[in-house]
Amino acid sequence: MDTLHIELSQNLKEKPDVNNLGFGKFFSDHMLTMDYSLDAGWHDLKIIPYGPISLDPSAMVLHYGQEVFEGMKAYRTSSGEIVLFRPDMNLKRLNKSCERLSIPQVDESILLQGLSKLIRIDESWIPSGEENALYIRPFIIATEPCLGVRASHTYKLIVILSPVGSYYPEGIHPVSIYVEQRYVRAFRGGTGAAKTSSNYAASIKAQEEAKTSGYSQVLWLDGVESKYVEEVGSMNVFFKVNGEVITPALSGSILAGVTRDSVIALLQSWGVHVTERKISMEELAEAHRQGLLEEAFGTGTAAVISPIGSMRWGEAEMTIAGGHTGELARKLFDTITGIQRGQQEDPFGWIYSIR
Ligand SMILES: *Cc1c(COP(=O)(O)O)cnc(C)c1O
Repeated sequence: MDTLHIELSQNLKEKPDVNNLGFGKFFSDHMLTMDYSLDAGWHDLKIIPYGPISLDPSAMVLHYGQEVFEGMKAYRTSSGEIVLFRPDMNLKRLNKSCERLSIPQVDESILLQGLSKLIRIDESWIPSGEENALYIRPFIIATEPCLGVRASHTYKLIVILSPVGSYYPEGIHPVSIYVEQRYVRAFRGGTGAAKTSSNYAASIKAQEEAKTSGYSQVLWLDGVESKYVEEVGSMNVFFKVNGEVITPALSGSILAGVTRDSVIALLQSWGVHVTERKISMEELAEAHRQGLLEEAFGTGTAAVISPIGSMRWGEAEMTIAGGHTGELARKLFDTITGIQRGQQEDPFGWIYSIR
């Protein structure tokens, strides 16, 4: 691995209004790139001005979707430090996704150093405002010009940065979800446990239909029996039933979320009984009938915690926690965002400070 080359932009962009960032609409001045070839391995790590890339129309990613990505956030703490939340887990997961997609492994420490440098260079893009953050999107695409169906012999890794606003401009609030019984996101032996574009391509139709019917997210069931809960939208999902917190076990078709892992660790440290296991819609509906379904929420980097206020399953419409944000969901949201912003102690050593 050679050294990091840096070419600074001569044409800095105007910054967007921090009160109107939305998600993933603005991009910083620079990007990190690295190339792979069979002979040289991963090489040519560099930071260059953000801009269009040139790709052969026959580039394999455009035809067969050989791609992986990650998503994390950089925050500026109250003391002015720039921090990442558990970036080692994201980079490990990137390599796990690579493994599933037959993409060559990346050196995690070199990538972490490279993206830290990128964030330093573009640190003025970390938006001010308590709830805002700089979203980091690393991704790898297959670039070999070839229509044969096999693993590409060349790849490009890119990291782009996007200032993003709060997921909840009006404060944390519950969403309504539609339990999807017709389409599936993933199945045993598929790519559900990898962060790869095709999982998303397959989910858009269901998401659109749920939106049309007035629901904001889709809850995915298992791909074999359409019986067991898997994920909600692009988040992992938790239910509190009669005092016990249950989340679907990592079965191979579920994405192992960093937020999911953090929520489990926090709950355990609070003495809450957490179980990772299969949970069917039938069991949840029965718990709801008995008044024992106390809370439900999704977890992911974008929203951190997304409380579920109601769930539509076939003809049944279940209201959860009276349609409000549950006590546990709020405590988890406050604790995780508090740790990320440096306002709360970090007992697990989750915070990575960028120098
Ligand atoms: C990224 C993602 C998540 C959440 O993972 P985090 O690491 O918590 O952001 C959950 N499900 C899917 C399908 C995802 O792509």
